Amino acid sequence: MATTMAYKPKGIFEYILIKYRWIFVCFFLLPVSFVYDGLMHLRNWIVFRLNSAPDQHTTKVERVQKQVLDWIESGRTRRMCTARPGWQTVSFRRPAYKGSLHQIDVNLVDILEIDYERKVLRVEPMVTMGQLTSTLNPLGWTIPVLPEIDDLTIGGLVMGTGIESTSHKHGLFQHICVSYELVLCDGSVVKCTKDENHELFESVPWSYGTLGFLTAVEIMMVPAKKYVRLKYEAVNGCATMVEEFEKASADPGNEFVEGIMFSENQGVIMTGNLTDTPEHNKVNSIGNWYKPWFFVHVRNMLGRESAIEYIPLRDYYHRHTRSIFWELQVCNVSDFIHSSLFFYS
Ligand SMILES: Cc1cc2nc3c(=O)[nH]c(=O)nc-3n(C[C@H](O)[C@H](O)[C@H](O)COP(=O)(O)OP(=O)(O)OC[C@H]3O[C@@H](n4cnc5c(N)ncnc54)[C@H](O)[C@@H]3O)c2cc1C
Repeated sequence: MATTMAYKPKGIFEYILIKYRWIFVCFFLLPVSFVYDGLMHLRNWIVFRLNSAPDQHTTKVERVQKQVLDWIESGRTRRMCTARPGWQTVSFRRPAYKGSLHQIDVNLVDILEIDYERKVLRVEPMVTMGQLTSTLNPLGWTIPVLPEIDDLTIGGLVMGTGIESTSHKHGLFQHICVSYELVLCDGSVVKCTKDENHELFESVPWSYGTLGFLTAVEIMMVPAKKYVRLKYEAVNGCATMVEEFEKASADPGNEFVEGIMFSENQGVIMTGNLTDTPEHNKVNSIGNWYKPWFFVHVRNMLGRESAIEYIPLRDYYHRHTRSIFWELQVCNVSDFIHSSLFFYS
């Protein structure tokens, strides 16, 4: 369950920027983000083209191994880290510390294998959630826990953390992972599963790259459907909200459960399930560019008792991507500018 609160502007400049943001948005942000968007697509295309080679996985891993062996030979004077620059990660943090470390290039960006019999998917660590849904959903498959921001990577979700509105049933991102392949600090490649190198398998999640470089992950797959039937229920009172949220999470009939608080006492609980048969006139493609941000759409449910919509699966999965949850509602001026670039891109 998440909370969003109103922000009070500090000073006249912030007030004007927030209250009359359309001037800033139309005449500055839109043109700038149009160019930014083009550059980002070009950047993604170049990064992908330069690194994509699913049948070359072994060679790519050998390249990672060689870099680690070179580091050993160089006398291990500096600690190692991934060479992934800050602008490629979802976090706003600038990883300045990487400048003084020994950087290892782990640019592995491919979906390697879809095993329909075992219901397992094998992917490299830089595969993003957006890449996964655009590949798997048209094939009628998905993964049980699919964190919603498009650019989150498998590596970041395993080594950092990942959670989603299905986690009450399926656990965290690591709980749907079946195996990890890593290059360790002695240059060896190991695979670990529940039964093979068990301790390593249990230690990899949340280790932030401290145990080795992740080079492949096997993840459980489940059949997908075209829509999510989503029920919105406005709730008054914090205690009632918690009670209803717990009830919804304990109900095995709810595949998706999410709650957003809009004030101390007002919130909306959303429960959903996959379906292929939407009711007439109830489909809402919330991902379209002209649609309101998802949390704004949900806020509009506050005055109503309950409502039901059918949301195309990919739109549901990435419902918070455009507005980065409610960060665009303005935290401070620099976040606002940064986030607005995201929104209009
Ligand atoms: C704006 C924002 C929105 C978010 N939204 C969600 C959300 O909707 N759902 C959710 O569950 N979480 C969300 N998070 C949290 C997010 O999942 C974690 O911060 C995640 O770790 C970020 O993933 P990333 O792909 O950007 O990885 P990074 O930040 O690049 O990496 C995370 C960690 O993993 C390590 N790592 C990455 N790849 C490798 C590798 N191949 N080998 C070794 N180590 C590696 C990195 O060194 C780093 O320590 C959000 C975070 C932000 C900032």
